[in-house]
Amino acid sequence: MKTIWKTFAAAASLMMLAAPSGAQTFPERSITIIVPFAAGGPTDTVTRLVAEAMSKDLGQQVLVENVGGAGGTLGAGRVASADPDGYTLLLHHIGMATSATLYRKLAYDTLGAFDYVGLVTEVPMTIVGRKDLEPNDLAALVEYAKANQDSVTVANAGIGAASHLCGMLFMSAIETPLVTVPYKGTGPAMTDLLGGQVDIMCDQTTNTTKQIQGGTIKAYAVTTPERLEVLPDVPTTAEGGLPGMEVSIWHGLYAPKGTPPEVVDRLSKSLQVALTDENVGARLAELGTAPSPQEDGTPDALKAKLEGEITRWKPIIEAAGQYAD
Ligand code: ASP
Repeated sequence: MKTIWKTFAAAASLMMLAAPSGAQTFPERSITIIVPFAAGGPTDTVTRLVAEAMSKDLGQQVLVENVGGAGGTLGAGRVASADPDGYTLLLHHIGMATSATLYRKLAYDTLGAFDYVGLVTEVPMTIVGRKDLEPNDLAALVEYAKANQDSVTVANAGIGAASHLCGMLFMSAIETPLVTVPYKGTGPAMTDLLGGQVDIMCDQTTNTTKQIQGGTIKAYAVTTPERLEVLPDVPTTAEGGLPGMEVSIWHGLYAPKGTPPEVVDRLSKSLQVALTDENVGARLAELGTAPSPQEDGTPDALKAKLEGEITRWKPIIEAAGQYAD
């Protein structure tokens, strides 16, 4: 009996040795990417495109969950405290870097709470207004905003959002504070802009291009040095008289700190597949942008970007002295 048991135990341990570890079989179930903004906005659009391509590559569903609020910091906090098993991820943008200074108290340590999967895309911004807003070009908008500073409303996705940052740059370029209206994302902000409840917004082309092309909102400028192919009639901020106002919004994919390196590596490889996916490239091109180059879909590239951007924006935000808390 003893011998039979020993043989059984030896066979079982051999089987265990032969069985692939969790990291090798990853993913065994669906993955959720948290978007720290409301559904229908630009971060959501980019994430759903990337999630679809990663899902095909990983052979599991990659779901998107919107956790909007507090300029993206609520969603980021959710991921910071999630199990570090690769099944809960975060797709966030430049706000990951700016909120590290804008919020003196965050529920997570920006540089300590995440593992890096890779860079995703870099998206131009557009200054847009409701369709029936009086001014027809950027110079006229500046004049109008200065003359009506107590009533002109600027939508954004909360302090720490890209729209907040871009709105701040606009107000500081024209040396005029305007009334800001925060939303949980620029998806719902766009609904209000279309409905005429809010006057202007600075937002990613991934949210504004189709509306501008359809003539449902007014476009005043793109925040890039050159005009965009998809919006050839929209002047750059420099052409419109605000030369220093250039900004584009980079996005990255993160996992909670402590995710097994093999899992991070698998996710990063899958992100790279998404970055080179034809559909992702074509859809982003229609929206005035492109996926990050494949070599930037790596942990090192995202880590270097985040660290560099925290250092870049810290003195600018401190000089402005406008904190969220
Ligand atoms: N990208 C937007 C922003 O940061 C938010 C969103 O994606 O809804 O303003």
